[in-house]
Amino acid sequence: MTSQKLQHFLDEHLADLKTKGLYNEIDTVEGANGPVITINGKELVNLSSNNYLGLATDERLKDEAVQAVKSHGVGAGAVRTINGTLDLHNELERKLAQFKGTEAAISYQSGFNCNMAAISAVMDKNDAILSDELNHASIIDGCRLSRAKIIRFNHSDMDDLRAKAKEAVESGQYNKVMVITDGVFSMDGDVARLPEIVEIAEEFDLMTYVDDAHGSGVLGKGAGTVKHFGLQDKVDFQMGTLSKAIGVIGGYVAGKQNLIDWLKVRSRPFLFSTAVTPADAAATIKAIDLIMESEELQQKMWENSEYLKNGLKQLGYDIGHSETPITPVIIGDENTTQTFSKRLIEEGVYAKSIVFPTVPRGTGRVRNMPTAAHTKEMLDQALGVYEKIGKELGILSR
Ligand code: PMP
Repeated sequence: MTSQKLQHFLDEHLADLKTKGLYNEIDTVEGANGPVITINGKELVNLSSNNYLGLATDERLKDEAVQAVKSHGVGAGAVRTINGTLDLHNELERKLAQFKGTEAAISYQSGFNCNMAAISAVMDKNDAILSDELNHASIIDGCRLSRAKIIRFNHSDMDDLRAKAKEAVESGQYNKVMVITDGVFSMDGDVARLPEIVEIAEEFDLMTYVDDAHGSGVLGKGAGTVKHFGLQDKVDFQMGTLSKAIGVIGGYVAGKQNLIDWLKVRSRPFLFSTAVTPADAAATIKAIDLIMESEELQQKMWENSEYLKNGLKQLGYDIGHSETPITPVIIGDENTTQTFSKRLIEEGVYAKSIVFPTVPRGTGRVRNMPTAAHTKEMLDQALGVYEKIGKELGILSR
C-alpha cells in the first residue's frame, strides 16, 4: 500500500493551490517551439520563448545534431569522469572559452544545475555571498546549497551593495566573499550595473559571478553582458545557459584555467551526472560558430524587438525600461493581468502573465520575447490583438 500520509499531503495541498488559483496548468506545444506554435490544435504567435535567435529550430543545428547521433550515438554512456567525456564535450568547452574570451570553460547539463554546481563547489559555510534580490531561483538554490551566509542587496542598488560588502569584509567573519548577479534580469529586461559591481569587487576583493542566461547571444555582439562592458578580465565566473539564445540545452562556467580545473574535480553534477548528449553538444558548437561568424541573427532580433516595443508604446502600453528584447507589458492588477493574458491566447498570441510573488504586488505583467525568427507579419498580428484586447479590457482608451 502506498503512504497514506503522502496521499493526504498531496490532496490537501493540491486542492489548496487550485482554490487559490495558484495551480499552474501547463500547456502542451504540439510540434516545434518556433515563432508560431500550435496548442490544442490552434496556431499562436509565440512571444513566450527564450529562443532569442531562433536557433532552436534552425536547420543548420538540426543537421549537426543528426550527424552527431550517427557518429556518436544518442547518449554519452557514463558520467564524464568515468568514461563519458566525448571529444564533442571537450570541443564544446574549448568553443565556450573562445566564445567568452576566457582561458577555459566547463559545461553542465543545464543552467540550473550549473549554478547549483559551481557556487557550492567554491563557497562554504565560512563564506558570504552578496546576492541581488532579483537573482534567479537557481542562484538562490546554489547559494543555499553552499551553506555560505547569504546577504541580499536591493536590486541593482550599488550603495546598498557597497555598504553590505564593506560590512561583510570588515566584520572579519568570512573567509571569502562573492558578489553574484544576473547579467540581464528576466522580468524587466534590465542589465546589471557590472562596471560598478566590478569596481566594488576590486575595492573589497570580492569574487564576481555573473549569470548571463539572458545576455549571451543577445548583448556584446553575442558574447554576453560581460563582453558588452569589456570586463572579460574582471569577472571570475561567466556563467550561462545553452537553452536560450543558443537554442539547445546545458549550462557552463567560463573563467580562468585553475577555476575550471577546480570545478572539474569538485562540482558534484559534473562528477556524478552524465553530460549532455552528442547531439546537444554538436548543435551547441554549431550555434556558437554561427553567433561568432555573423551578427545577422542578432540584428534581426534587435530589429524585431524595436518594432514590437515601438508598436506597443504607440498603442499606449507601459512597457517598463527594458534594455534587451525582454518586453514586459505592465498591467498592474493581478486579476486583470491574468484575464489579459488569457484573452491574448484566445485571440492567437501566446504571451503569459507574470504576477506576484514572481514580481512585486501590483506590477502584474505579460512578458513578450521577440526573436530573430519572427516576421513583421507575425508581430503585426500580435500588435493587432494587443490593441483589440487592450480596448476591450479598458486598459487602452478607445
Ligand atoms: N539562470 C537564469 C537567469 C535563468 O533565467 C535560467 C532559466 N530560466 C536559468 C539560470 C536556468 O537555465 P536552464 O533553463 O538552462 O536550466
